[in-house]
Amino acid sequence: MDVVQSYDIRSVDRAEVLRYLGYAGQEFSPELDARVDDVVARCLDVARPRGAVRVFEVAGRGEKDGAPVVRLGGTALELRGRSISEHLDGAVAVGVIAVTAGAGIDAELRRLSFTDRVAQVVFDAAGSALVERAADAAEAGVVAAAADRGLFCGSRFSPGYGDLPLATQPVLLAALDAQRALGITLSAELLMSPTKSVTAVVGLFEGPRAAERPSCAACPCADFCVLRRSGRGCGRV
Ligand code: SF4
Repeated sequence: MDVVQSYDIRSVDRAEVLRYLGYAGQEFSPELDARVDDVVARCLDVARPRGAVRVFEVAGRGEKDGAPVVRLGGTALELRGRSISEHLDGAVAVGVIAVTAGAGIDAELRRLSFTDRVAQVVFDAAGSALVERAADAAEAGVVAAAADRGLFCGSRFSPGYGDLPLATQPVLLAALDAQRALGITLSAELLMSPTKSVTAVVGLFEGPRAAERPSCAACPCADFCVLRRSGRGCGRV
């Protein structure tokens, strides 16, 4: 599997946007309520969500600088740290994902920073929720590719989670040729541009994972999942 794709994202989870805004059930004004919908609609309009996905075989496991390492075949990418090693324990292959909501989001954020600071904050939250939807879409692609091989996926895991270092980013992005394919670049501080971009890895296993998802209806990948549409299922519910 080696795919660069555009994703058709028509909605984001409103509760997710509010969570990014720091709301945890408390009341907020009707004005803000109405503005959230407007700004989310504008974000969906501006975004150009795209992603690159490749599946690499697990070539071996070892230790580097005192930490466990999962090595992948056909790439310099190594996944170092106890948390990712445990997450990928037993994996025979790994799906590597990079997605972006596009440079237009950053341009709009810059414009709003001069004209409407409230909208800027809400737009930023909507962009974060939207790029996670793009990651859901990319993950659904990995799940389908795994199923085609009779394999089963775990959940995704990003550099910066646990002890998987952010320093993984340059090699991960290079493994996907993400600068050419998606226009994603890294700053000296390893921050991605466009800012609403996400990288992650997903393990592929020979057996089903213990109930990763409560149901297809509750699965974030559901809107993009060809397995669900075909009634095949992925072994995660
Ligand atoms: S739980 Fe259902 S919707 Fe989610 S990836 Fe599996 S088959 Fe698809």
